[in-house]
Amino acid sequence: MPGFELFGEEERKHVNDVLETGILMRYGFDAARKGIWKADELEKAVIQTFGCQYAHLTSSGTAALTTAFAALGIGVGDEVIMPSFTFVASFEAVLSVGAIPVLVDVDESLTPIPAAVEAAITPRTKCIMPVHMCGSMAYLDELAAICQKHNLLLLEDACQSIGGTYKGKHLGTIGHAGTFSFDFVKTITCGEGGVVMTNDQAIWEKCDGYTDHGHDHKGADRGADLHPFIGYNFRISELHAAVGLAQIQKLPTILAMQRKNNQLLRQHLQQIPEVSFRIVPDPAGDNGAFLSWFLPTAELMQAFVAEMKAQNALAGHFYWFNNNWHYIKKWDHLKTATSLNTIHESQKVALLALSTQDFSVSDAVLSRCVSTAISLTWTEEQIHAKGQQMVEVLKKVLNK
Ligand SMILES: *Cc1c(COP(=O)(O)O)cnc(C)c1O
Repeated sequence: MPGFELFGEEERKHVNDVLETGILMRYGFDAARKGIWKADELEKAVIQTFGCQYAHLTSSGTAALTTAFAALGIGVGDEVIMPSFTFVASFEAVLSVGAIPVLVDVDESLTPIPAAVEAAITPRTKCIMPVHMCGSMAYLDELAAICQKHNLLLLEDACQSIGGTYKGKHLGTIGHAGTFSFDFVKTITCGEGGVVMTNDQAIWEKCDGYTDHGHDHKGADRGADLHPFIGYNFRISELHAAVGLAQIQKLPTILAMQRKNNQLLRQHLQQIPEVSFRIVPDPAGDNGAFLSWFLPTAELMQAFVAEMKAQNALAGHFYWFNNNWHYIKKWDHLKTATSLNTIHESQKVALLALSTQDFSVSDAVLSRCVSTAISLTWTEEQIHAKGQQMVEVLKKVLNK
């Protein structure tokens, strides 16, 4: 799964370039930095690798989402439709700009059901935010059509699906804006970091200013920059960008290894007729980071999880249904609207209503699902041993 498994000489070299000059900031200090501009270089590499027109790096994936919302003009009172299954960062970013997360069910694609999305639209809806979870994609054609029909913005949270594609286009480059996270466990990492991608110059310019205290970056002298709007500091550092520059060059290798290992493991599970696999709207575009699969009932999957745990082999297998970070069921802080600072009344009302919302459709999916993380460091022997163990456990659980 994560790029950190391939950390080495290349990352050290790029970081050392920065350490040589000591200029750790991405802006200014033009003479002292001796031509080293790692963040600029990484943005260019993102544009080239993923085929978007503009890219702006941030300090995290969460910051990238927050920045994208601000640049899209989404704020207090606006509703953002998003899935019940995602990492907590997705709703954190919605809340951070004062907007309201509206959660909808997912199906066996592990992404929002288009009909549920359309049914959730109200006059306050501004944006649809699908999350391309676990390396694979949402129903982008259907969601884009809904956006067009209702005049809504499409923001792709592609933080977990770097390198994945949909009908030949990279995930994160298809909506009005899209984001990646480069945190430590993502497909490629900066240590911490993120990026907003867009094909709209005006959106990019807003991201560029918003992440740097509103600086317009138009003059040669940073101190003389104007501030056309209020911004914050969501900047990436040169050290982090340097790591990312080495990692993005490894992306083709990472994707090839992930997909190969994923396929080898899948061949084992395919022997069991009761096992089914995640729906992938464009199978060629799965980045391979996870193998997500289902059993016919929640009881069977819980028995599998219990037996794997008993065999001390559960590491790397994610049973999201009981996971604190990824599914509505355990998001108690969200459902009780527990925030350190006062949140807007419209947000509070919507969050408290989540505890009585019916998520039985999502429950029926997630309670039968496990995502197995694919490691880059597995040998073929290890994959076969893992696959055989899973098959044995499945046979035991299924009484075969
Ligand atoms: C990791 C992740 C984020 C946020 O990324 P950070 O860089 O950790 O802030 C957002 N959304 C999803 C789906 C993620 O997995």
